[in-house]
Amino acid sequence: MEPLKVGVIGVGHLGSLHAKMYARMRAVKLVGIYDINLKLSQKIAKEFGTTPYSSLEQLLSSVDAVSIATPTSTHYEVAKEVIEKGKHLLIEKPLAVTLEEAENLVKLAEKEGIKLQVGHIERFNPAIIALESYNLNPLFIESHRLAQFNPRGTDVAVVLDLMIHDIDLILSLVKSRVTQIDANGVSVISETPDIANARIQFENGCVANVTASRISQNKMRKMRIFQRDAYISIDFAQGKSEVFRLVDDNSKNVIPTMLLGQINQGNRKRIIIYEQPEIKEINALEYELTKFVEAVQNNLEPPVTGYDGLRALEVAQKILHKIELQKLL
Ligand code: NAD
Repeated sequence: MEPLKVGVIGVGHLGSLHAKMYARMRAVKLVGIYDINLKLSQKIAKEFGTTPYSSLEQLLSSVDAVSIATPTSTHYEVAKEVIEKGKHLLIEKPLAVTLEEAENLVKLAEKEGIKLQVGHIERFNPAIIALESYNLNPLFIESHRLAQFNPRGTDVAVVLDLMIHDIDLILSLVKSRVTQIDANGVSVISETPDIANARIQFENGCVANVTASRISQNKMRKMRIFQRDAYISIDFAQGKSEVFRLVDDNSKNVIPTMLLGQINQGNRKRIIIYEQPEIKEINALEYELTKFVEAVQNNLEPPVTGYDGLRALEVAQKILHKIELQKLL
């Protein structure tokens, strides 16, 4: 198969990593990059042996697909141009700032018949991949995503910049409709909320309590999932998951890392076991981009669709709306 001709738009912090990954992928030819900061794109192009284009139009006429890693506030205008030129795109999260923009992009992509993947990278975190063989059916989720202050990303509220990762994951894990959202947040340093907490309720009874901050002293990216007969703890930063499960004492094929205790339920003997699922050596960004390239080359549905990005944004916008309402009380 011919290598896919790929470009990267916006080569700041994350876009330069996209360029780095594409440059080493066999299935891809990194044709070029484009950034409004030409000096930066010349530097990055030199580093990864590619061409710094001085206009978006020129780059788009030379590629089959692109990654967009420009600031979120520019996603809509850049993505619209990419889709109208009929090029496949992986767009960094969040898909856009407003729901209207996101809906337009999803519709436009469908109309043009191009692949649209949204960069919700935590779906590709080795700690999540390690849980694929488990039957996750969460009834309560607690998540914390805390970061130190960094002016990058403050063009949007912390809900759109950080919490959106957890929102997307939670929506992918809980196969049920959102029925109620309560939220609170505070703008401490920037003009938009820097710290936020949301309680998301689902039709099946599941509740997710989600906290995100970009003004923390210490970093943390953790999610705890509670369900019937199991507690799962995920550390995204460490790329590590732990599972505590209740299984029948006579269960075959259960080789626990540790036996933690026994519980008798009627005449049924049950044991509590601790497992550390095997973690594969995966670079989440490289895996995410590989899946995008495969979707384009083999005409498959991308693993995180435009519709997924839209759903996550819809919940994020409802959370922001609730935070605004709180301010008025
Ligand atoms: P950044 O500021 O480091 O880089 C953005 C780059 O885009 C800059 O070099 C800037 O010159 C360029 N740019 C701005 N407007 C442009 C335009 N119209 N056309 C071309 N280039 C343009 O920002 P960043 O931290 O790399 O974030 C970029 C995007 O990636 C954001 O949407 C952010 O939410 C997302 N992001 C995702 C993750 C993740 O974990 N998936 C992590 C960080 C950032």
